[in-house]
Amino acid sequence: QKRNAGESEFLQAVTEVAETVIPYIQDHKKYREARILERIVEPERVIIFRVPWLNDRGEVEVNRGFRVQMNSAIGPYKGGLRFHESVNLSVLKFLAFEQIFKNSLTGLPMGGGKGGSDFNPKGRSDHEVMKFCQSFMTELYRHVGADIDVPAGDIGVGSREIGYLFGQYKRIKGEFTGVLTGKGYEWGGSQIRPEATGYGLVYFVKEILERQKETLKDKKIIISGSGNVAQFAAEKCILEGAKVLTLSDSNGYIYNPKGIDLEGLAYIKKLKNDERGRISAYATKYNCDYFEGKTPWEVEGDIALPNATQNELHKKDALKLVQNGCFCVAEGANMPCTPEAIAVFNQYKIYYAPGKAANAGGVAVSGLEMSQNSLRYTWTRDKVDAKLQQIMREIHTLCVKHGKEDHDYINYERGANIGGFVKIADAMLAQGLV
Ligand code: NDP
Repeated sequence: QKRNAGESEFLQAVTEVAETVIPYIQDHKKYREARILERIVEPERVIIFRVPWLNDRGEVEVNRGFRVQMNSAIGPYKGGLRFHESVNLSVLKFLAFEQIFKNSLTGLPMGGGKGGSDFNPKGRSDHEVMKFCQSFMTELYRHVGADIDVPAGDIGVGSREIGYLFGQYKRIKGEFTGVLTGKGYEWGGSQIRPEATGYGLVYFVKEILERQKETLKDKKIIISGSGNVAQFAAEKCILEGAKVLTLSDSNGYIYNPKGIDLEGLAYIKKLKNDERGRISAYATKYNCDYFEGKTPWEVEGDIALPNATQNELHKKDALKLVQNGCFCVAEGANMPCTPEAIAVFNQYKIYYAPGKAANAGGVAVSGLEMSQNSLRYTWTRDKVDAKLQQIMREIHTLCVKHGKEDHDYINYERGANIGGFVKIADAMLAQGLV
């Protein structure tokens, strides 16, 4: 607590893991004696740097850049870059910490890291975004590399930003390597990467339902967010015959009782990705309700998919969801549910799938992008999709193995934490005191 004073998000993420992992460590002397938990919460390295750049008016702007290299026990650091004004060390340490467990769960050889800046591309011209990305990479390039640390996108970092970052790295280093994932398909990207987090989330939900002899058909789905994860989670739900009732952005949520269809979703993709508009425009065009300043958790539905940002679903929202008959909550975003909300889900035996398991599909396909780059080869869409489904199935199996409780109830949170922990801890033990 003292060493990380003021880092509330990081402390929250560590507490959540520690609560389930400590009892397991108590039972395993080798982890206890090697003080694995004390070591795993300390980043291997944190890089903080100045990012000066010129805006369109010719004025100097200064942002702060970060890269948290959390753990490399099972592979090169891997994790996204976030560009948003809320970015600070605490947020990135929480994300990097979550990332090491998530990457471990995928079964692929990837360590954990995260980075970004307090720069927000929203409202900036393409030219300004390029200038910023070039300045950011002019420092970051010396800390990353295909076998060292491989960043990807996250909030505020999509294919445009990855392109500018990659271009600058290539220019400085004079080499074309897989230093970033989320690249365009024509220049080293993987099929299915844009879809991977949202699709993977829905594959995970399908696994949960299958254990209950249920399917997604006609289920009512409540989704928050309308960015990358939310769009493709919604798409897969619709393709599976479910009814997507809501989507949101930082201003409010839309509610379509008939369900958003593929045509409406195509409109939203264009609106959010190309025009960078507000979700309220959908309500106007499709003549449905829009709730300004509200989150969608008050809507009645079977399954909730929080896909926007951290701490967006609170205790009162959790109680409302339970009261409305929701039986499954799966996190597309990282840490969207507060600890008090998770306690409600546990109390009422709601199936709660934490982000480190449920949203691991994105980084899994990033790992597959790294494999394809190393092979200098590209796999087909079907092949990558099949591998993604297989990985999500295996993560689910691991969660069941470590999270089984009385009456066949699965505590996915415990399952994911312990399932992710064991592999990293064993690798750290094998590599000595590093
Ligand atoms: P995007 O930037 O594409 O979309 C983010 C969405 O969340 C937007 O609709 C945005 O609204 C909304 N949002 C952002 N901040 C807030 C806030 N403070 N309050 C309310 N709404 C907010 O990001 P992604 O879809 O890529 O990421 C969403 C979440 O998923 C993040 O937690 C991310 O870490 C996580 N994640 C993403 C992965 C990926 O592959 N992209 C992989 C694994 C996890 P607005 O349009 O108004 O900004």
